[in-house]
Amino acid sequence: MADALSVINPATEALVHELPIDDSAAVAQKYAQARRAQPDWAALPLADRIQSILRFRSLLVERVDALAALLTSETGKPITQSRSEILAVPGRIDFFVENAAKVLAPDLVYYEPANALTGMGTLEEVIGHDPLGVIANISAWNYPYFVGGNVFIPALLMGNAVLYKPSEFTVLTGGAIASLLHESGIPQDIFISVVGAGLTGAALLEQPIDGIFFTGSYATGQKIAVAAAAKLIRVQLELGGKDPAYVCSDAKVAAAAAGLADGAFYNNGQSCCAVERIYVHTDVYDEFLEAFMATVQGFKLGDPTDPDTYLGPVSRKPQLHVLADQVADALAKGATLLCGGEQLDRPGWYFAPTVLTEVDHTMTVMQEETFGPVIGIQRVASDEEAVALMHDTPYGLTAAVYGTERERAIAMLRQLKTGSAYWNCCDRVSPRLPWSGRGHSGLGTTLSLAGLYTFLQPRAWHLRAV
Ligand code: NAD
Repeated sequence: MADALSVINPATEALVHELPIDDSAAVAQKYAQARRAQPDWAALPLADRIQSILRFRSLLVERVDALAALLTSETGKPITQSRSEILAVPGRIDFFVENAAKVLAPDLVYYEPANALTGMGTLEEVIGHDPLGVIANISAWNYPYFVGGNVFIPALLMGNAVLYKPSEFTVLTGGAIASLLHESGIPQDIFISVVGAGLTGAALLEQPIDGIFFTGSYATGQKIAVAAAAKLIRVQLELGGKDPAYVCSDAKVAAAAAGLADGAFYNNGQSCCAVERIYVHTDVYDEFLEAFMATVQGFKLGDPTDPDTYLGPVSRKPQLHVLADQVADALAKGATLLCGGEQLDRPGWYFAPTVLTEVDHTMTVMQEETFGPVIGIQRVASDEEAVALMHDTPYGLTAAVYGTERERAIAMLRQLKTGSAYWNCCDRVSPRLPWSGRGHSGLGTTLSLAGLYTFLQPRAWHLRAV
């Protein structure tokens, strides 16, 4: 098939599917469809839009088995984690639905009564909220339901049309999401899936869209920002992280080790907010390491369709080289390998869970996004040293401190430039809280009320009766 996208199963390396790529002409056609349809969608009562989204919510739950199997087939994500991702979307939908009317309601901020003496009528100042119009959502593959849903669900509720480009690595899930939304009553021209990789994404950005909502790497995010600059449209970038965690001298060590091992290895470390670097106070270092290794050695690696599997293959073959290079760089500079360190000798893109100690910040594993099952653990002598090291990357997505003293942890977290701060927890996202990154981790906010407002633009109404 010419200009086709091949979907490969990372666990078996078998071809799952091939489907045609949208070229520039197809992208322009899809844009035109969305542009024509959007005003009618925005003019519908909010209750109608909500009804469609609630039907989508029900279908996700009803069809979770088939949807999870599809996601696992194209990403290698363990089936229980695919199910968990899909089944967490309803909670996010509930938050958006509960708050949509409040956010869209016109806000009377000033009222001046009529003045019989001057003959002036009443004056009202009202803030109105208009949808942006037609937005592009270019998405990542690691959590297509989460990172896509954080954009397209509130965008649709707020009255926008969405051109959704799923990652080329989750294109089947992207298609399934589109079908489910259409079955739920979202018009075909209001949510349109665009199929392809970077070139298709670039073609989408050439259309006269009203906003770009992107999730992906810092490198691509920069290109998106440059492409969007001339348009002066809303640009939102949810990018990578090098998220640090610190275990204080007074931490509950066993719980911290179990929580951080999960934070580092869940979804094979392929989470934007995965724990990517761990610093441990020297007083609890040995105890922490022992508990951490016990947890890691208990993770079951294998066939991602097996409900007991915790670690499957990595989702993208080229990442195997990134991981091997980071390990080799660390070992060459004096790190100690406690386990793993290489691709497994079996079919599929499996990389053994890897723990490195005696690491430092000259090593790429402590500086560049790993996005895989490799973690560096560094011993520190004080809270001050931990804070300085945690601060030492250009990323700023999340940071975690484990310890019993709340004020001590908060004081440390305040010094870090991150969008999220965790005390005795990590790798956690809530629909009620803003999700945002600082520095190389991005621009703009999803989730929380801000994650609804971001799909709107304010209009100042000056209304004088005569
Ligand atoms: P990526 O940057 O390779 O691709 C992201 C999307 O951009 C894909 O859909 C891709 O086709 C598209 N794209 C690539 N080049 C483009 C171009 N020139 N113009 C337009 N579109 C283009 O990222 P990825 O590998 O899909 O995702 C992994 C990255 O995403 C990691 O860095 C991860 O941390 C980050 N991420 C961040 C968040 C967050 O909330 N901050 C969430 C999930 C993932």
